[in-house]
Amino acid sequence: MSDIVVIGAGQAGASLVARLRNLGHTGAISLIGEEPVLPYQRPPLSKKYLLGEMELERLYLRPRSFYEENGIALLTSYTAVSIDRSGKQVVVDDRQISYDQLAICTGSIPRHLPQAIGGGLAGVHVVRTLADVDAMAPGFTQGRRVLIVGGGYIGLEAAAVAALGGMHVTLVEMSGRILQRVACPETSEYFRKLHQGHGVDIREQCGLQHLTGDDKTRVTGAVLTDGTELPADMVIVGIGVTPATELAAQAGLEIQNGIKTDARGRTSDPSIWAAGDCASFPYRGERIRLESVGNAIDQAEIVAEDMLGAGTDYVAKPWFWSDQYDCKLQIAGLNAGYTHVVTRRVGEAVSFWYYAGDKLLAVDAMNDPRAYMIGKRLIETGKSPDPSEVADAGADLKPLLRA
Ligand code: NAP
Repeated sequence: MSDIVVIGAGQAGASLVARLRNLGHTGAISLIGEEPVLPYQRPPLSKKYLLGEMELERLYLRPRSFYEENGIALLTSYTAVSIDRSGKQVVVDDRQISYDQLAICTGSIPRHLPQAIGGGLAGVHVVRTLADVDAMAPGFTQGRRVLIVGGGYIGLEAAAVAALGGMHVTLVEMSGRILQRVACPETSEYFRKLHQGHGVDIREQCGLQHLTGDDKTRVTGAVLTDGTELPADMVIVGIGVTPATELAAQAGLEIQNGIKTDARGRTSDPSIWAAGDCASFPYRGERIRLESVGNAIDQAEIVAEDMLGAGTDYVAKPWFWSDQYDCKLQIAGLNAGYTHVVTRRVGEAVSFWYYAGDKLLAVDAMNDPRAYMIGKRLIETGKSPDPSEVADAGADLKPLLRA
């Protein structure tokens, strides 16, 4: 039985080791994680956990006893510093761990604001780890002024928590509209109105020029690219992530928009696999990287199976979700290359259906789990309903699955 080492104890790494034992692997398994806590779920960090509605214990993916009972050596607070491919060892701080097979699940790293524009001031936060959120949570108090930089999911979810907590919230988005990278103008408009209805001041096509600081140590405000000056007690930065490829690159593995893998998650070294945010993989004739929990779990499980010889290709079924105020956004599919969007409204529920010509690519569903579920099934089975049927609020969607 081979000894397996997994670097990265996030969602992908934790799913991978659990699947290995579940498949009956009896060799040694080590899971190495930099953070000082048990592997946990990240999505609630910018939602329920930040709102104070979810306890720390509930964030953990599995209790400590799971790792003990399954003979998984969980090395928290350990950093993998290099991979010795010829000697098949991972150098971890002061020790070396031998492997027969290795999986890299290092995730992604949030982009920080440059120091030169005030990124290093106290009161400026990113949202990625439990420690990040624990550091900012005490500042989320009524009446304080928060500036949010970036109108992606991180920025918008943080804005919703801050507005619900009675803070004065300004959000700046450098591109033409919020969610521009991931959604159509209709979805952007829906969320713009939702946030404005809760008093959030959304400024699009407006970036941050620099932050101002008290004695240059604690943030006190900001100067925006349109020249506006704003006071701010804290700043949340949600300006995207980059795949954590440094370790893999140093080890000489091929990098192409992330650690390059084949359909089974194998890297350019036959003894090393990669999964989750850090890995790019073939998808419908292209090479993509997905930053989502669903991908981290599904890809990691395929990698675990392949490590044990199953040889199954990963067929990604992209889905995402976001909670903001009382709106649940659910997204099925990938909208890249869409030509037009069809709107479906049933009461308060709204969904936007992305087509490329006649082909259905993706669905954004707001408080419409039925549209999401049926859209997801249609996309996964390659079916594309007639747009007039989708737009007809009186029509039941379910028969579309049988067409
Ligand atoms: P994101 O989706 O890349 O959004 C960042 C946004 O900030 C982009 O619209 C970007 O515009 C803008 N931006 C970049 N630099 C800026 C600047 N200096 N000033 C103002 N705006 C700026 O990334 P994110 O929201 O930080 O999220 C990080 C990752 O976590 C993503 O992969 C995200 O999908 C994931 N996440 C997902 C969920 C969910 O699924 N519910 C929740 C939280 C996080 P440009 O595109 O023009 O650069």
